[in-house]
Amino acid sequence: MGINFSDLDLDNIRSRIDIVELIESYIPLKKSGANYKAICPFHSEKTPSFVVNAQKQIYHCFGCHKGGEIFRFVMDIENITFPEAVRKLADRCGYILPESDSQASYKKSEKDELYQCIEKIAIFYHDYLIKKPQAQKARDYLRHRGIDTKSITRWKMGYAPPSGAKMLTDFIKNEGFGVDHLIKAGVLKTNEKTKRPVDRFFNRIMFPIFDEQERVISFGGRVMDSSLPKYINCPETMLYQKSKVLYGFSHSKQKIREKKSVLVVEGYFDVIQLHQSGVETAVAPCGTALTEDQINVLGRFADQFYLAFDSDQAGVNAALRKLDVILEGGIKANVVCLPQGEDPDSFVKKYGKDNFEKTIFASEPALDFRLKILISQFGIDDEYGRIKVAESMMELVSKQPNKMLAESWIKKIEEILGFSEEVLRSEFLKRRRKILNRATQSTQNKGETVLADPIPIWEKEIFKIILNTSDPEILETAKKCLKKEYFSNKMLCHLWEKIEETSCENYDGESILVERLVSMYKEDERIVSLLTEMVSSCSEEEKDFANLDASLKRLKKEYLQDRIKSCMESLDRAGEEEVFLLLKQLQELKQEKIQLGIF
Ligand SMILES: [Zn+2]
Repeated sequence: MGINFSDLDLDNIRSRIDIVELIESYIPLKKSGANYKAICPFHSEKTPSFVVNAQKQIYHCFGCHKGGEIFRFVMDIENITFPEAVRKLADRCGYILPESDSQASYKKSEKDELYQCIEKIAIFYHDYLIKKPQAQKARDYLRHRGIDTKSITRWKMGYAPPSGAKMLTDFIKNEGFGVDHLIKAGVLKTNEKTKRPVDRFFNRIMFPIFDEQERVISFGGRVMDSSLPKYINCPETMLYQKSKVLYGFSHSKQKIREKKSVLVVEGYFDVIQLHQSGVETAVAPCGTALTEDQINVLGRFADQFYLAFDSDQAGVNAALRKLDVILEGGIKANVVCLPQGEDPDSFVKKYGKDNFEKTIFASEPALDFRLKILISQFGIDDEYGRIKVAESMMELVSKQPNKMLAESWIKKIEEILGFSEEVLRSEFLKRRRKILNRATQSTQNKGETVLADPIPIWEKEIFKIILNTSDPEILETAKKCLKKEYFSNKMLCHLWEKIEETSCENYDGESILVERLVSMYKEDERIVSLLTEMVSSCSEEEKDFANLDASLKRLKKEYLQDRIKSCMESLDRAGEEEVFLLLKQLQELKQEKIQLGIF
């Protein structure tokens, strides 16, 4: 855990920032009644199920069940920790967090420590590259590749000398870290025979890999000749999961957001060369095909994807793997075709930014490109080839979530391959049904785990009233009549206990219970999700505080009936002495029921 901020600090920040304004600076919001709606930034969807509640200053997604208040939102969308989110929001509203005097005694988490160590390792490789005479070859190599000094600094590029383990270890020990940190970071590995730590990177150009906040989290290394493997990467660590990280995203996020488009390329040199030439929306996956996670991240910022890749066969194959994932996501994507023998790096170096932008302008819609490749693979001169191509294309079309897009694709396939629309449509429906079946099966399975601890509506009803009121008196009434055992659901039981001991008024005497609870449970996403759901799904009718009495009665009745039932069951199995006690209990419960006016 990082620093603990005081409730007062958090309250102060909260009162200075409006959640609607905050979220709107990331995604477009639409007013819908008293609330705001949006396409959820945390899962892919076509119809908005993300709701922002201005009054309670919370959000909830009915699709993926993510919910919370300002801090959680910033943590999730920026992919940062709670302390980082607090600092970021404090900066945003100009609130000055008190200097913590425990700064010195502040215990660094393992993660923080690794961040700091990796930053130092990057400095070691970088300094070696720019200062040491032994790195002359590496500097010549980079110059030869057209990388200027500014880029070397900006991307913190470095050089890992041959047999650098000793130097690196001495350097890092001087900085207060140990060999185990170097192994944890992935730059050293343990030799299996000698059990001694040895270099992972040997005589290689080093590319630090950054997270979204531009912190170094890992490294990739490239040889300077034609030996293999051309690239090696650090293994995954607690900071680095390669399927989630995009090289260059830290440096291009702002431009991607502005232009609402992103250029996906293959390698580190492509990204660096493009940025150096002024094409600043370029990113690259780190030695993998583009993953769903990466596409989701980019989809938060860009409506249009451009894919540029090497024009050789390997490049085309790599692009195809990406294409299918992107097309299935219903994302607008174009393929940038470069002349034979060129990759983005070599092309932009030779012909400059303007010519590169011309090729982007002339890029082909991804589906057309996919079709062209299939035709060149199978041919369409005979039946066999046409069927092959059509089947492949229909597989893709059936996964398209956007119906209108699917429709226009079918038309195109009809035009080019000459099958009747009727045949294609029935093929489409057949495949679509299969996919839908699979999807409902998996959601049913998910449903089961949620239902494992179901919440009766009368228990939720009470909470909806209590959470939605801003009148502390209503809460006081509820506190007088309610006991935690009335709730059969464990989470609600726990929540009620917390509510009983929480003061929930702000300076104006208004209830800010929800805000308090959400921030109190910031570590427990399930409870926060339940809270934001109960607030966001509340109809006007359910909010009616006049219903409080009736709801309380219903809750108590259900509770009493439940107790009576279990008493009766125990009675069947009870020994002589127990029987007497149970009967007495039963009598009392029935009496309570009568007092409530229930028979
Ligand atoms: Zn969602």
